[in-house]
Amino acid sequence: MDTYLAILLLVTTAFPSNRPSGVSLSRTTSANNKSIESRLLQTIRPENCRREHRIFTEQPHMAGSTRNYWLAQYVAKQWRAYGLDHVELIEHPVYLPWPVRYEATLLGATAEKLSLQEEAIPQDKDSYATDVGIPYCAYSADVDVTAPVVYVNSGNPADYDLLAQQGVEVRGKIALARYSVPYSYRGFKALTAQRRGVAALLLYSDPADDGFKKGEVFPWGPWGPESHLQRGGIVYDFNLPGDPRTPGWASVPGGRFLPVESAVSMPTVAAAPMSYKDARKILEKMTGPNAPAAWQGGLPFSYRLGPSSDQLHLIIQNDKQVRSIWNVVGRLDGAERPDEWVILGNHRDAWVYGGVDPSSGSASLMETARAFGNLKRSGWKPRRTLIFASWDAEEFTLTGSTEWGELEADRLRKGALAYLNVDSSSSGNSFAVAAVPALPSRRGARCS
Ligand SMILES: [Zn+2]
Repeated sequence: MDTYLAILLLVTTAFPSNRPSGVSLSRTTSANNKSIESRLLQTIRPENCRREHRIFTEQPHMAGSTRNYWLAQYVAKQWRAYGLDHVELIEHPVYLPWPVRYEATLLGATAEKLSLQEEAIPQDKDSYATDVGIPYCAYSADVDVTAPVVYVNSGNPADYDLLAQQGVEVRGKIALARYSVPYSYRGFKALTAQRRGVAALLLYSDPADDGFKKGEVFPWGPWGPESHLQRGGIVYDFNLPGDPRTPGWASVPGGRFLPVESAVSMPTVAAAPMSYKDARKILEKMTGPNAPAAWQGGLPFSYRLGPSSDQLHLIIQNDKQVRSIWNVVGRLDGAERPDEWVILGNHRDAWVYGGVDPSSGSASLMETARAFGNLKRSGWKPRRTLIFASWDAEEFTLTGSTEWGELEADRLRKGALAYLNVDSSSSGNSFAVAAVPALPSRRGARCS
């Protein structure tokens, strides 16, 4: 939080020119900043952050849900009460499919239906909730297919090349890939699977990457228990972020929309997440060559490339709905250069509770807004306009911030000075610090 405030003050009060590059501070400005900064820091209360975090994480709040709209109203109400100059709730109707069906059945001598659910843990009351929704990969295509499974390691192009060298056919099969270390975006895995002609892609976290091979699993430690699974989008946001139907312009009620089918960001392959408890049942059925040493995982058997001896019947179905999302944008008007903007943003929507991502950041954002509101009440004004933003549907395809950026494109091009994003501001029990080296430190030295 301290670093966050220091950077924010630096860019809002100190820089004499438009662009914050390598500018040293005068002694007077630095002293003024220090006084403002200490007043801000004295206002920040950890117990407020804890209370806000509890409010944001009390219920699942996926984009498009009633709860996430309620939270948008809550943020707007709080920011008005804190004393921000203008607070708006901005609606964007966007293509936002939700899951309606996800089933996977191994067709052996007796059919075995996989659970595809996270199991409840006695120490965690929230794990008993029944309103967490069907696990899914947002923007997956629909599929109803029966096919053998092949193990594709991380699902990157080099992995498929190795399978081809080994004579393992993937076309028309279901690919089982790991969420990998080093990381590769699941959308890139989906695009690679689509290009290689697989029938569907299943993604799981191997215990070697996130599970008992790393250490104690939840609730005894931080690593994933055997039924945990990771939701996420597979959209090709590297082609186009935001509502797939409005490339380059904002989605507004009554606006112009292209057909979803024409969007360059829409996958044509189906994908879904799976736990290692379920993936194990498939991996145990693999035939074919032994997987290379680097592909071996944490389960207690030798991984093979496949295909699986049993076929998998996989059904993935999502609705094709347009839903309203809600950005909350609050301003503290600049006294000297109101058209120059410093923007502080955090998304609000979560796949489920969002304990770390994004609600730890939301708690920081709320308390920061409160502290600045207090400062304003004491007569202080920023030199440039400060904008606080609570984005919706970031998890889907950076949707809320993209739509707002398109809505405000002209003003942003002319006056956007800096954008500071907070996603997750705290997790775990160890302290780590990162900084933006382009910004000078308070003494004018570069951060390292
Ligand atoms: Zn996030």
